[in-house]
Amino acid sequence: MEGIKMQYSQRIQRIPYYLFAEIDRVIEEKKSGGMDIINLGIGDPDLPTPKNIIDKFCLAAYDPENHKYPSYTGMLSFRESVAKWYRKRFGVSLDVENEVLTLIGSKEGIAHIPLAFINPNDIVLVPDPAYPVYKIGTILADGNPIEMPLLEENEFKPDFSKIDKKIAENAKILFLSYPNNPTTAVVEKGFFKEVVDFANDNEIIVCHDAPYSEMTFDGYKAPSFLEVNGAKEIGVEFHSLSKTYNMTGWRIGFVVGNPEIISGLGRVKENVDSGVFQAIQYAGIEALTGPQDSVEKNRRILRERRDILVDGLNDLGWDVKKPKATFYLWFRIPKTYKSSIKFSRDLLDRTGVVMTPGVGFGRYGEGFVRCALTQKKERLEEALERMRGLRL
Ligand SMILES: *Cc1c(COP(=O)(O)O)cnc(C)c1O
Repeated sequence: MEGIKMQYSQRIQRIPYYLFAEIDRVIEEKKSGGMDIINLGIGDPDLPTPKNIIDKFCLAAYDPENHKYPSYTGMLSFRESVAKWYRKRFGVSLDVENEVLTLIGSKEGIAHIPLAFINPNDIVLVPDPAYPVYKIGTILADGNPIEMPLLEENEFKPDFSKIDKKIAENAKILFLSYPNNPTTAVVEKGFFKEVVDFANDNEIIVCHDAPYSEMTFDGYKAPSFLEVNGAKEIGVEFHSLSKTYNMTGWRIGFVVGNPEIISGLGRVKENVDSGVFQAIQYAGIEALTGPQDSVEKNRRILRERRDILVDGLNDLGWDVKKPKATFYLWFRIPKTYKSSIKFSRDLLDRTGVVMTPGVGFGRYGEGFVRCALTQKKERLEEALERMRGLRL
């Protein structure tokens, strides 16, 4: 039987080629060929969700009250625990009714928010290199993503003075994320002040994505965008329980800040999803308000892994700095290489070690690789051992 001729929408066709799917395919091929792969490409914690959180979830899952459709905005008690956490952690007050919205993971909210504010061809400023969803969410809303390069010489912060005046004036949304994936860059509050000024001058909505705010080291404490005066007038902050509490599979996050922006996103969401399973929201309450020792333990484990890998790579003649946050390393590929894809491929072929080519995060990521600390230290040591004597 002959079916109809399938034609994907133009917006689907505008989604950039997904390099990471191709990398996964090569990894699978190598694995089935018997190669022992050490995958440092995975941005997903290998450590389990803390037991107190799982226990809370199990209890809640047995309660028939929780088997119904949840409320669109999230349970009031979950939103209250978010507000409480924000006050304690950042000294920021939030109106639980209007300034907090529960998300099915922060990716969901980030992908949907352009639908609430972007008309065809409206400009959205996106960092490059970056988490791909800022750009793709824009494309799915028929918007026009314009890259702001994150350059090493600017400590991987956008240079607002370099943004064309016309583009800035016409931009509707600005995405940012610190502590940053993939560059591991961190900022101080002063930078967020600059962001607020730039956004006010040009009437732009700021969407700050902060899933790594708790994954920090060496005494660095990440500020919230909302700590800065005026931020709540023009912006929102996305947060996730995924990285802080090793809960990527649970799908729960939240967005806080300007009530009109939150309400716009809520309008989209109430028409496409039906909220987060309440038992998961109870688990989320336990995560945010229960004992926080697991967060400190995570930091300790990640810091140890970071030190092993950074020190080891530097001993092998690389030039890698210790990041103050995130569970990634971001560093330049050897000078003998022009292409991060070629470098990653050669490394994989010769050692079975996977690092993510920087260009997969955008063209300004070319020349770099990202290495995730999501493997046990023994595996990191093994990766270093395999790279010893390697001439690339
Ligand atoms: C992991 C990650 C997210 C998504 O987290 P979820 O809440 O699991 O959807 C968002 N932004 C960045 C930069 C991330 O690395």
